[in-house]
Amino acid sequence: MFFILKLLIGQNIGELFFISATSYYLFYEWPHFYYHLKSKSFLDSINWLYFLKKYHTLHHQKTKMNSWNFNLTIPVMDYLLKTKWKPPEIHKKN
Ligand SMILES: [Zn+2]
Repeated sequence: MFFILKLLIGQNIGELFFISATSYYLFYEWPHFYYHLKSKSFLDSINWLYFLKKYHTLHHQKTKMNSWNFNLTIPVMDYLLKTKWKPPEIHKKN
């Protein structure tokens, strides 16, 4: 796709697409994949990543999904937009 856009429109558009697509996968798709792993992962030993996994798990509760914890990678945005919800036990590891 990068090379097609580069040929058709120009190098800047091709590079912009490449950077945007790569960022999307790195900061949304891969973390989201990890958050939905049912089994234990070595990534669970990274505290901030484990916190984000638990944070996202709260989002998928049926009663919370439409209203709370929308942000996958930057939870502070939920705080700023007043869409943050967490029970007291979110900071504890299982
Ligand atoms: Zn999810």
